[in-house]
Amino acid sequence: MTDRHTHRVIPLQDLRPETLPLPTDALDPSLRIQPNGLLADTRGRALRDLRISVTDRCNFRCNYCMPKEIFDKDYAYLPHSALLSFEEITRLARQFIAHGVQKIRLTGGEPLLRKNLEQLVAQLAALRTLDGTPLDITLTTNGSLLVRKAQALQDAGLRRVTVSLDGLDDAVFRAMNDVDFPVADVLAGIEAARAAGLGPIKINMVVKRGTNEQEILPMARHFRGSGMVLRFIEYMDVGATNGWRMNEVMPSAEVVKLIQSELPLVALEASQPGETAQRWGYADAHGRHDPALGEIGVISSVTQAFCHSCNRARLSTEGQLYLCLFAEKGYDLRSLLRGGASDVDLANAIGHIWQARNDNYSEQRSAMPLDSGAAVKRVEMSYIGG
Ligand code: SF4
Repeated sequence: MTDRHTHRVIPLQDLRPETLPLPTDALDPSLRIQPNGLLADTRGRALRDLRISVTDRCNFRCNYCMPKEIFDKDYAYLPHSALLSFEEITRLARQFIAHGVQKIRLTGGEPLLRKNLEQLVAQLAALRTLDGTPLDITLTTNGSLLVRKAQALQDAGLRRVTVSLDGLDDAVFRAMNDVDFPVADVLAGIEAARAAGLGPIKINMVVKRGTNEQEILPMARHFRGSGMVLRFIEYMDVGATNGWRMNEVMPSAEVVKLIQSELPLVALEASQPGETAQRWGYADAHGRHDPALGEIGVISSVTQAFCHSCNRARLSTEGQLYLCLFAEKGYDLRSLLRGGASDVDLANAIGHIWQARNDNYSEQRSAMPLDSGAAVKRVEMSYIGG
């Protein structure tokens, strides 16, 4: 393990972001944007995927997301009154769906720390997309509370979960979550999710060179043939507190090569437009994909930017709309909601904000000098979800 205390310079700063002013046309009744699913941003990207953060708290202190030095016992989390209520979230979700959103992912912090989350799931599960089909509702979790929550979530209408798991070695895992949480309890949570019928389960592993790359092969062996999809994510310069360095990024191409050296893989087609992961299937003895062995995904946000197809919006815990994971500021939808805006006003504001969107941070990072991404100001991932 790398000793982060000898390598990190943690900036002390106010992490609460300011908000962006709404586009001037956003509330002009004569400039209505018809919510019909045809909305596109300045790069022609549709709005299809909404990530909703339901809490800024987490019970883990992963160094790349919520390092202990910043998120300590004195850290001022948002008061409950600042969080969007489930009714407010559902009302906003309805307006996003009117503009074409088909998938909602609940995130945090750790979303299962939000009390009675299953009630929100039930409210969202009752919504329908523009073509009348149920929403694709999923949730990203660290898995620590799944044993207790999986069945209630499934009963409420959740269909799938993605579990973040950065290694199988208990010592590595305990060190990475930095709260000494045992890996066995997360594996039990994954089993509980499977038993409850939440699937296909995705497992997200952030690979950080010098920290957990030795876990790649054990993870691949463990989840091969399990029916779960293991995805390897390049360590990103999210937020401003994780002290990111390019030499800690292990490119996805290297991950694939390493797995190939023991477990043959074949490239698979994307299963849907805007998919963030490149798919690789485990091959049989004839070099063909064997569905029984399953597949992996690699998410190369650093080495192969996929901004051109990014159809994701992010709603923060307190109702700010972020157009990019790496944005510095968001648009304050909560003030609109609580200021008496009608549904038409809300949909119109969302439409104008999306129409003006130009974000492509990962593409820009590719053109920046090495490591300069670490100095760019941006919102913390624990505030808007990954
Ligand atoms: S950097 Fe921003 S725009 Fe590019 S893929 Fe990531 S979230 Fe989307």
